[in-house]
Amino acid sequence: MNEADLFQILVYGWLGIAAVTFVSLQFLSAPYGRHGRAGWGPTMHRTAGWVIMEFPALLVPLVLGFAACGCHRPAAYVLLGLFTLHYANRTLIFPFRMRGGNIRMPVAIAAMGFSFNMVNGYMQGRFLFTLGPAKELAWLTDPRFIVGAIMFLSGFAINLQSDSILRNLRKPSETGYKIPTGGLFRWVSCPNYAGELLEWTGWAIATWSLPGLAFALWTGANLIPRAVQHHRWYREKFADYPGNRKAIIPFVY
Ligand code: NDP
Repeated sequence: MNEADLFQILVYGWLGIAAVTFVSLQFLSAPYGRHGRAGWGPTMHRTAGWVIMEFPALLVPLVLGFAACGCHRPAAYVLLGLFTLHYANRTLIFPFRMRGGNIRMPVAIAAMGFSFNMVNGYMQGRFLFTLGPAKELAWLTDPRFIVGAIMFLSGFAINLQSDSILRNLRKPSETGYKIPTGGLFRWVSCPNYAGELLEWTGWAIATWSLPGLAFALWTGANLIPRAVQHHRWYREKFADYPGNRKAIIPFVY
């Protein structure tokens, strides 16, 4: 069996695990942030946890892209640029700007995130640069690339804005939670997750690939249940929580 065959199995397996994750998260919340709780083993500083778990997503596709340097896939480098933009923020900026003092997270969460990003980074990078069909410069004027890239960048902007609103609810070492307002919080409890989902849906379209689709479905499987859990939590905690807000999709869900 060669790498391409194994890759195919990996992508279908990845889709299967996303489905299992979605079902599991109907009954369980990932134990970090407001849903953190005892019983998940040793903990580590949250900033270190975020950097460690996101780092493979930043590094692996870059290494695969540069290792394939000289391949005639110029559009793949533009797509790599989008991916790197997101993960440079998530790995090198976002963790250092979070507020709330010395908050900890389970090592198990960081380990799961690290494993996810190793596999996903390999899948996205290897498909773009080696195993998937070559994307020439002409791909950059294809409507699928244009629509996908616009969705990706819009989602990125929404995610950045929403994370910034959340961050500014606290003074640097303040803990506790407040009702967020402004931006897309007007319509949903978790616009940061909505932005993230829009980004990776755009990525699936811009790459027009099964690995891209698998990543978008994984993101939904992970973030839609968590948005519902956050939304329920807000409504239970704050009697004056805006009643017209949905969890993640404005006016719908
Ligand atoms: P949250 O919205 O739960 O928290 C983001 C930050 O804001 C945390 O520092 C949190 O503090 C703080 N915060 C949240 N709500 C409030 C509030 N009401 N009052 C004060 N502070 C608040 O997001 P996550 O931590 O789950 O995710 C962070 C980022 O990572 C998001 O942009 C998300 O899209 C992305 N992500 C992507 C995933 C994917 O599958 N692609 C998976 C998970 C996250 P505290 O930690 O103390 O709760």
